[in-house]
Amino acid sequence: MTTPLFDLAAPPLVPVEGGETGYPVRRIFCVGRNYAAHAAEMGNEVDREAPFYFTKTPHALCLSGANIPYPLETSDCHHEMEFVVALGAPAFRVTKARAMSAVWGYGCGIDLTRRDLQGQAKDKRRPWDLGKDFEDSAIIGALTAKAAFGEIGDQAIRLDVDGRRAQEASLSEMVWSVPEIIAHLSRFYHLGAGDLIYTGTPAGVGPVAPGNVLRGEIDGLAPLVVTIGAAE
Ligand code: MN
Repeated sequence: MTTPLFDLAAPPLVPVEGGETGYPVRRIFCVGRNYAAHAAEMGNEVDREAPFYFTKTPHALCLSGANIPYPLETSDCHHEMEFVVALGAPAFRVTKARAMSAVWGYGCGIDLTRRDLQGQAKDKRRPWDLGKDFEDSAIIGALTAKAAFGEIGDQAIRLDVDGRRAQEASLSEMVWSVPEIIAHLSRFYHLGAGDLIYTGTPAGVGPVAPGNVLRGEIDGLAPLVVTIGAAE
């Protein structure tokens, strides 16, 4: 039998509201341009043919309550407040009608983005990894079970920076609904328990700075709070 050369730290378990259990994360998928007003503020149009995605590694996870250093090698790090879907069952080539049966619950998330590095990647037609997949870039609040949250409708989603409202929208403004995203993504992956989907950000993204306190809220979910510390 082969033994490991060394032990790797496991990603943190995401706390679950009202329980002692934690949600283990396997993969992190993120949807791009899922609110028309955000696509417009970035100078893009929504692709209504199909959603597109990028991914983050589980080691990018950051739990609500953390104080994180200002991210490395950027001078334009942006907040992107997002509704996060946590899967709890397999979904492979599912229809829109069947997609929601794979959902375990939901949480508040921030897709922290090194906008300058993402912009350079776009200009050079290179992958977005350095702009998107970095330590502490997948911030997540405690998860709430699907049944406790109820139907996804016109719940408000908002983000305050130091108490000032930066982002505010309704989940009903998503271009691609959650079942549409799951159905589409399940054509490309064997989705399953432990897979998180960040469903895109509304308008109002902007830079964060050392000392900022970010507070994200979605009606019906546990809020998310994170403090940006000094650069390393
Ligand atoms: Mn995003």
